Amino acid sequence: MPIHWFPGHMNSTRQAIKDRVQAGLDVVIELLDARLPGSSSNPLLAALTTGRPSLKVLNKQDLADPAQTEAWLAFYNAQPHTRAIPLDAGDKAPARALIKACRELAPLRGDMHKPLRVLICGIPNVGKSTLINTLVGKKAAKTGDEPGITKLEQKFVLENGFYLFDTPGMLWPRIAVEQSGYNLAASGAIGRNAFDEEEVALELIATLKRRDADRLRQRYGLAELGEDDAVLEAIGVKRGAKIRGGAVQMHKAAEALLMDFRSGLLGRITLETPDEMAAWRHEAAEA
Ligand code: GDP
Repeated sequence: MPIHWFPGHMNSTRQAIKDRVQAGLDVVIELLDARLPGSSSNPLLAALTTGRPSLKVLNKQDLADPAQTEAWLAFYNAQPHTRAIPLDAGDKAPARALIKACRELAPLRGDMHKPLRVLICGIPNVGKSTLINTLVGKKAAKTGDEPGITKLEQKFVLENGFYLFDTPGMLWPRIAVEQSGYNLAASGAIGRNAFDEEEVALELIATLKRRDADRLRQRYGLAELGEDDAVLEAIGVKRGAKIRGGAVQMHKAAEALLMDFRSGLLGRITLETPDEMAAWRHEAAEA
């Protein structure tokens, strides 16, 4: 069953972005999850900030497949008024690259008289608070695993003439195509009550078989990869998800697999390519 998730209205977010555009906005930073850049993007942001230069930050690049990250960077860098950089939100040195890229996107702004006004947006859990903390250099924004903390627009002066604005409200992910729902759920971006972990785990197995079957085999010591549910069952055996009597608790096996993926224990994996994303969107539009 496809995942539908309507966590709440985005009216306050929409208004906050509109207000920022009206008050003055030079560069929009969209924080994306490097493991699922297309699915973690929200088209509302692009719609509300049309014409403004855009910096796509592929965050959590430490968890993503480097070759796929390169492909996504090339994809975004080919778009007009757009630049893309990979990032690991906790790392100080690469965070400097973000400031540099923003300055390059709006070269006429960025001094005491004409400050560079930058808005940072991203779906919950993508790493926005972590990144702001890194950029600001102290515990300035709240961080946590639970989506839904930021309330009011905050302004951070990163250096002379560089203002970073953080949106109040939540930019919830938009599940435009079926596979995006599964990828978002696998990444931990949507509430766990909104999906069936076993179903998401089976989709993840299908993706991993396609993408990196060897890794799946090695991680769980599987000689053969059979049907997806047989693979999940075998993972359950390896990860101690058996109950007394010998049966595997499939939801425990699913939880274990999802945890291994989210924490990077399965290795650096990207769930979607630019071409796949385009094909899924095309299919959804045709349907
Ligand atoms: P927010 O909801 O967008 O503000 O997300 P947070 O900053 O609270 O981060 C959500 C989770 O992702 C936290 O557990 C962070 O430690 C983790 N995280 C953030 N950025 C990165 C990153 O670049 N790499 C990795 N591996 N984890 C990250």
